[in-house]
Amino acid sequence: MNVPFLDLKAHHQPHRAELAAAIHEVIAAAAFAGGPFVTRFETDFAGYCETPHAVGVGSGTDALWLALMALGIGPGDEVITVPMTFIATAEAISRTGARPVFVDIEDTTYTMDPANLARAVTPRTKAILPVHLFGQMADMTPILEFARAHGIAVIEDAAQAHGARYEGHRAGSLGTAGCFSFYPGKNLGAFGEAGAVVTSDAALAERLRVLLDHGQSRKYHHATLGWNCRMDGIQAAVLQVKLRHLEHNNERRRQHAMHYARVLAGVPRRVLPACGPGRTHVHHIHAIRVPDRITFMSHLEFRGIGCGIHYPVPVHLQEAYASLGHRRGSFPVAERCAAQFVSLPMYPELTTDQIEAVAQAVEEALCISVAT
Ligand SMILES: *Cc1c(COP(=O)(O)O)cnc(C)c1O
Repeated sequence: MNVPFLDLKAHHQPHRAELAAAIHEVIAAAAFAGGPFVTRFETDFAGYCETPHAVGVGSGTDALWLALMALGIGPGDEVITVPMTFIATAEAISRTGARPVFVDIEDTTYTMDPANLARAVTPRTKAILPVHLFGQMADMTPILEFARAHGIAVIEDAAQAHGARYEGHRAGSLGTAGCFSFYPGKNLGAFGEAGAVVTSDAALAERLRVLLDHGQSRKYHHATLGWNCRMDGIQAAVLQVKLRHLEHNNERRRQHAMHYARVLAGVPRRVLPACGPGRTHVHHIHAIRVPDRITFMSHLEFRGIGCGIHYPVPVHLQEAYASLGHRRGSFPVAERCAAQFVSLPMYPELTTDQIEAVAQAVEEALCISVAT
């Protein structure tokens, strides 16, 4: 059976009429860059995230960069984050002129290990940027306590965790700011590029609105330098429609994750993903860990199962970050995960048969890769 890694056509098929109508409304109103459709989506998304303010921007990368800029972070500052993430997390820090300082992740949840913060903090540390990797939130209580004790901000990278919860709190609602991506493949995806920052700080939201529109508070009056990070009207209209289906789709992902766990109950526990206590996972990526990835993946390919690797090279070992001087061995958990991760198909439209076909191929592939 063929099981694609992702199937965006199937994802949009049931809502095509509704989505086309939303796009036609934007065309009729000719409100393409920022404007009323963006404002409406911001209201709905803030409500969904249980935060007072949401600010729509051009991408998840914009969201991270603007949140850091709005907090005044720049050259000479340090921001603590993790090396097991998409590079945008660290890139946004670097683009402000600040320096990313990495701490290793937990071996079970793959999110920031708060026990490592004490070793990484310096008088230059201005913020902690945990990443809610694969759909589950980092262990926020100790991270927030540490930040409060040191008088520094927490910015959540929630690009993979729309709707996730930690002790009942939504992703993005616990930190000073929460940053989201609506890249098409994310749990909530646009028809192109888009992102948002959520916050409970009204002044911060206002600074973000100025920065995302060339630093202007009034048309053609620029108090500060910003950039063009506006959200498109069409993306906002599409997202407003898709947001109504997010809870249901996250629930379907949860059902699929439970089904995977049931049918893979025979494989060693450490292979399968785990959910930390007090967390509601939204299963953006279903990564398992295998000892011999090349043999494993070639068997899955042979069986027609699509898979991916998130992420094969941890950020501290990327060529772009050679100047930071990190070596292999600096962050052993992230490095081991990068060598072992394989992401299985995970999206709301997966069928029972498809999950069982994937599970069977996984079991065969594990036998083969252990035997060779
Ligand atoms: C997708 C992603 C981003 C970047 O978002 P874009 O919308 O692609 O700019 C940042 N951080 C993480 C963890 C992501 O998965």
